[in-house]
Amino acid sequence: MPAPPLPTLEDLPSLGVKALRLQCGNYHRCWHRGSLPVEAIDLRQTIDDVQRKLVCMACGFIGGSAMPDWPSIGPGGVRIQL
Ligand SMILES: [Zn+2]
Repeated sequence: MPAPPLPTLEDLPSLGVKALRLQCGNYHRCWHRGSLPVEAIDLRQTIDDVQRKLVCMACGFIGGSAMPDWPSIGPGGVRIQL
């Protein structure tokens, strides 16, 4: 059976998500974090597409993790432009 297509990010604004939380993929060496407002993202992508394209402003590492900044979690933490 083929895997179902990954959902795109288009639903996020209607779910109250205003940003993605980002973290550098260079684990153990760089813990740079940031957030990206949904207005700055092409929402026809999947979260995997976004993760592959992240470039860390601190260490230059390509690839990281991104997750929706759900409103129930709240802003919290230090926001750094990744
Ligand atoms: Zn980094």
